[in-house]
Amino acid sequence: MMNDERARIGSRLTRSLPMGNVGLPVIIEVKDLVVEYDIGNSRFTAVDIPAWSVDKGAQVAIFGPSGCGKSTLLHVLAGLLTPNRGKVNVCGQDLGQLSESNRDHFRARHIGYIFQDFNLLQGYTAVENVLLGMTFSRQRPDRRHAQELLTRVGLSHRDKHRPSEMSIGERQRVAIARALAGKPELILADEPTGSLDPFHAREVVKLLGAACREHGCSLVVVSHDQGVVGAFDSSVAFMELNRAFATAPSAGGAA
Ligand code: ADP
Ligand code: MG
Repeated sequence: MMNDERARIGSRLTRSLPMGNVGLPVIIEVKDLVVEYDIGNSRFTAVDIPAWSVDKGAQVAIFGPSGCGKSTLLHVLAGLLTPNRGKVNVCGQDLGQLSESNRDHFRARHIGYIFQDFNLLQGYTAVENVLLGMTFSRQRPDRRHAQELLTRVGLSHRDKHRPSEMSIGERQRVAIARALAGKPELILADEPTGSLDPFHAREVVKLLGAACREHGCSLVVVSHDQGVVGAFDSSVAFMELNRAFATAPSAGGAA
């Protein structure tokens, strides 16, 4: 398939374009990205992406089977993992130029991360978990805004519930509200529907998309579930993006 044919609204494989030379404003730009893992005495390449960019404001779904490197890519984009090679520019910042602690500050200020297992603090109520999202990004905790966000995700009546007192779908919605609480420019969501039944998965995806649009936030979702992909402006099969997976011995056999 030609690169031109692969180009889609919002996300494109830009193999031929040099870094920083894309016409539209971009929120993510990746060039010659390689992530390797050491296992025992051997090393294998988990991610190898020649060039990829995401337009500002776009909502992009990346789908691929378990083990194809989706979480690895999100960790790199969030500055949680340093790649072995390549340039990664997120929200206008070259992550390679930042020290580890500056990457932490950068992430707190610019990125909302939604984990598959939600990462909610168990001892805290829904509204307190959302307030924590503000504290991470060094905003003044604003309880009214936290309540508004919970209302936005349909949980105004669950504000005093702790995670153990909520359904899985409700916990996932709290995680969305918390990710939005820091007013991020970009939300990275790792399998946000992984624990949900198909009905709630569709609802959560719709909610996430709509909430990001309202807040002017770009969104990248990775998922093994092709069912969630249709809800997005743009989708890309991770195998098209990630050269490492295409050449891995287990390619196609991962589950
Ligand atoms: P996905 O999110 O698509 O399931 P991952 O990014 O988690 O894939 O993993 C990609 C590959 O890298 C898998 O083969 C996984 O076993 C391997 N891997 C992930 N994290 C590590 C690690 N810390 N050390 C070694 N191998 C890892
Ligand atoms: Mg994963």
